[in-house]
Amino acid sequence: MVMAQAAEVAEELEERFERFFRAYYHSQILEAVHGYPETRSLVVDFEVLDRYDIRLGDLVLNSPDLAIPAAQRACARIEQPVGRGRAELNVRFTNLPSTSRLAIRDIRSENVGRLISVEGIVRKATDVRPKLVVAAFECRRCGEVNLVRQRDENLREPYLCSGCENRGPFKLDVEASDFVDSQKLLVQENLEDLRGGEHPKQIMVLLEDDLTGRLTPGDSVEIIGVLRAGLRKSGGAKSRVVEVFIEANNFNPVEIEFEEVQISREDERKILELAQDPEIYSKIVKSIAPHIYGYEEIKEAIMYQLFSAPPIELPDGGRIRGDSHIIIMGEPATGKSEILQYVAKELAPRGVYASGKGTSGAGLTAAAVKDEFGDGGWSLEAGALVLADRGVACIDEFDKMEAGDRSAMHEAMEQQSVSIAKAGILATFRSRCAILAAANPKYGRFDEYRPISEQVNLPPTILSRFDLIFFVRDDLSKTREVARHILDTAASPESLQPPIPPELLRKYIAYARQNIFPELSEEARRVIEDFYVEMREVAQQSEDVPIPLTARQLWAIVRLARARARVRLSRVVTAEDAERAIELIKFSLSQAGLDFETGRVDIDKIYVGVTKSQRDKIREVLGIIRELEEEYGTAKRSEILEEAERRGISKGEVDEILKKLHDSGDIFEPKHDHFKTA
Ligand SMILES: [Zn+2]
Repeated sequence: MVMAQAAEVAEELEERFERFFRAYYHSQILEAVHGYPETRSLVVDFEVLDRYDIRLGDLVLNSPDLAIPAAQRACARIEQPVGRGRAELNVRFTNLPSTSRLAIRDIRSENVGRLISVEGIVRKATDVRPKLVVAAFECRRCGEVNLVRQRDENLREPYLCSGCENRGPFKLDVEASDFVDSQKLLVQENLEDLRGGEHPKQIMVLLEDDLTGRLTPGDSVEIIGVLRAGLRKSGGAKSRVVEVFIEANNFNPVEIEFEEVQISREDERKILELAQDPEIYSKIVKSIAPHIYGYEEIKEAIMYQLFSAPPIELPDGGRIRGDSHIIIMGEPATGKSEILQYVAKELAPRGVYASGKGTSGAGLTAAAVKDEFGDGGWSLEAGALVLADRGVACIDEFDKMEAGDRSAMHEAMEQQSVSIAKAGILATFRSRCAILAAANPKYGRFDEYRPISEQVNLPPTILSRFDLIFFVRDDLSKTREVARHILDTAASPESLQPPIPPELLRKYIAYARQNIFPELSEEARRVIEDFYVEMREVAQQSEDVPIPLTARQLWAIVRLARARARVRLSRVVTAEDAERAIELIKFSLSQAGLDFETGRVDIDKIYVGVTKSQRDKIREVLGIIRELEEEYGTAKRSEILEEAERRGISKGEVDEILKKLHDSGDIFEPKHDHFKTA
């Protein structure tokens, strides 16, 4: 009786869907059926259905397991292709009402079994694998083939053989079975929805058929699907904790921009007013991590990084990034981590804070990992730089990153993409973010008289990709000022009130990035050109001086100057913008690359690791070894030291140079303390 009623309900439902489809989707169904099997889905606008029949709409939302199969059967009644087998179209829904749109963190057990929509970013995606829909089991006793429709994760065998009525044994006949493509995703809630250091929540999503293979980690997406609950398995045993996941019915890619921040008319009025303020630059600088004392240049650089410059698209398809990368090298307890956290959590509309050391799995870039979903395949997982696409990635302990990240970092910083080639997987993710990194000196403190490259555990090839490098020393001369700042804060915490509240500053940044695309004025061009030419000329005046500036720094200046124009919402980069950008670059270079022996800015010190004067000494020592070698066959250490000392090179320096030459393979040591050139 109940069964008959259910069948009647289903039949009636099917008829109502059929009438709806004939009225609103007839041509789309015809088109889909003729494109079958390449086209396998009909996408229905929920609002159209809901307006046509509110009860039908209600059923789709609240009883999707009843409504959606009925809709699919109704669809099949309308049109069938001639002579090509049966077309079974998936009916997919889009445009759900706002009441069905949930934040991932708001999903509750009461939503189980309902059609819902969530937005987020794909953090992880498995490869696409075939999944049994109808399993064909051959009976080993009588040879009968039993077809069993599969529903959940575990394989279901026939209970009794329909031929001989024995309980098997059965053998799965893969070729006679039916499969569907399947894929699992881990979707994490959008970073811009998080404030104040909340940990992003995530949910597993199951995709099937033509939904598979179209999303990769880093994609922003709206998932529409039925919320399911399953028992969580922990090491084989089932626990009582129910885990929810979404069986996707449909998805829509969402282009979430860094700029995607709601800006009201009132906000806009405030932003335009601020942009006119002659004090705007210092107001913004004072609004960045106000609880951290000092750091004016670094905060100014961060201001430009947040506003960013538009990327430059080249006619050959290439692209010059508009994001400035900044690294702060700081001694411990100088407040650099706090600055990074403040930027990621309070200011960057799409900010990610991660540590190079503590990140597991995907690390900073991306990784192909053995599937933790438990079915033995590979998953692609997005790391911090991919998740921060179009935002700012604040990476603490940048020098502690894994080897895999190091090798992927060059591409991530320059092309702003991450490629993976592992286990037969080839994939590229976008990582169009600015990097704000912090690193520690290798030996805890900086030594002014050692090349910076020796004191930093990062290869020059990565360092040279930062537009600005800052050094922060635990400066004793500033102790009193820092103490006063802390005591002032303790006495009146409101003194730390930023001139521009973080909420408004974030909107300001988003507004500028959305609307302002500054171009260099003639005057700005001239200022930058003159500076560049002058620096290169200085370099050429003396023979064999490393070129102090490369095209990389030129681009860095252009980026900073354009970002500076953006801060005051100007479409024109002025000479002043260019000059200020040059000042910052000079500041950063002099901090990092000043050759203390010649007093010149020697960028080779950072990027190659050896200063000009050191290189001269290396050449000198190599010459001594050659001379001794010619005379005695090998060069004895004591004699090298003696000769070098006569030429003004200390014993300590010679020892270091010998080690360097040995490491680089320029000399070898056939006998203890005896050297030969290679
Ligand atoms: Zn049998």
